[in-house]
Amino acid sequence: MTIAVSAVFGVVFALASLGVLYGRFRKVTVPKPRYWSTPRPLVACDPSLAAPTAEAITRLRAIGLPIDWAGSPSMATITVRADASLDDRASVDDGAPSLHGITHSRTDADGWTFGADVRVLPWASAVVIAHELCHALGYEHPNPWPPSGHLLHPTRPGWDARGIAS
Ligand SMILES: [Zn+2]
Repeated sequence: MTIAVSAVFGVVFALASLGVLYGRFRKVTVPKPRYWSTPRPLVACDPSLAAPTAEAITRLRAIGLPIDWAGSPSMATITVRADASLDDRASVDDGAPSLHGITHSRTDADGWTFGADVRVLPWASAVVIAHELCHALGYEHPNPWPPSGHLLHPTRPGWDARGIAS
């Protein structure tokens, strides 16, 4: 009995380990159905989000994405704003909110993107803002789902940027 149970756990553990290993190395394809009409979208954000937005922009530029700060808010083509109403919990005792950010892109009659509005929770991390900025740049969640820790993972994003290229 004990040996049989141990064997089952052993097999399950081995399969889980293989799954994690596979997720680490498999190719990830990130769809990009939308393109910008300008070569370098410019970002402005609420002052309270300056630090995580700066980290997000630095990280995205490091992987070669064409994005930069706007010199002034009036020049921005992407805005990042804090929006507490995204917190969809009935009570703060309900664990984490399910929605961390949302991005609306604006496109012209020919389908080119010329602007995007990003809203995130007031306490958004750099990785959540980077995830939404990727949506703003035209990327979608990979399908089938990417490994957890991938930047475009719908619920557990991280800094794994496989398959994201300008
Ligand atoms: Zn997303």
